[in-house]
Amino acid sequence: MIKIKVSEIFTSFQGEGPYVGTPATFLRLYGCNLNCEWCDTDISTYEILSVDEVAEILITQMEFNNIQTLIITGGEPTLQMEEIKRLIKELPDDIKIQLETNGSIFEYLPEMEYVISPKVDKEKVFENYYKYENVFFKFVICSQEDIDEVIELRNKDCYDKTIWLQGEFSRDNEMADLIRENFPRLENVKLSVQTHKYLNQR
Ligand code: SF4
Repeated sequence: MIKIKVSEIFTSFQGEGPYVGTPATFLRLYGCNLNCEWCDTDISTYEILSVDEVAEILITQMEFNNIQTLIITGGEPTLQMEEIKRLIKELPDDIKIQLETNGSIFEYLPEMEYVISPKVDKEKVFENYYKYENVFFKFVICSQEDIDEVIELRNKDCYDKTIWLQGEFSRDNEMADLIRENFPRLENVKLSVQTHKYLNQR
C-alpha cells in the first residue's frame, strides 16, 4: 500500500500567484529539499496516510465545498512524486490539479498545471520548464539582484509569458517599491502579494 506524508489538508482561497482568489482545496505534503532562510511554511508535523485515504478526504472536502481546484503544495511536493502519480489516478478526471514547487527536482506531468517558484539553480529550473504551456513562474524578490536575474532569464530564452514577482513577505512593501522602480526594464510582469496573510486566511 502506497503511503503519503501529509502535513495538512484544508480548503481556502489561493492567496498568491496567477490564481489568486480562486477557491481551492490544498494538500500540503511534508518535507522539503531546501532550507530558505525566510521560509514561513510549517511542515514540522505530518501524518502518514494511504493514497486511498488521502483521495477520500480530498474528494469529500471538495464535494462538500463545491471546489474544482486541488493545489498540491509543500514543502516540496515532488519529493513524493510517485505517490502523487498514484493519487491522481484515484481522483475524478474533472478536478483541475496544480502543483506548487520550487522546481529543483525535475518532474513533469502534463495532466497538472505547475506554479514554479525557483529558489536555487534558477537558470536550470527555468530551462527545464519554460517551454511547457501549463507552467507559470513566480519569483520571490529579496533584492535588485533577484530582479536582474529574472530579466536575464527572460531575455536569454525570449520568454514572453507573464512572470509573477512576489516580494519576500517581511519586506513586501519595500520590494514592491523596488519592482516599480524597475518598470522601465521589466516586461509582462505582475505583482504577487500573499493576500491570505493580510486577511488571516490559511
Ligand atoms: S522551497 Fe519553499 S517550502 Fe522549501 S524551504 Fe524554501 S520556501 Fe520553504
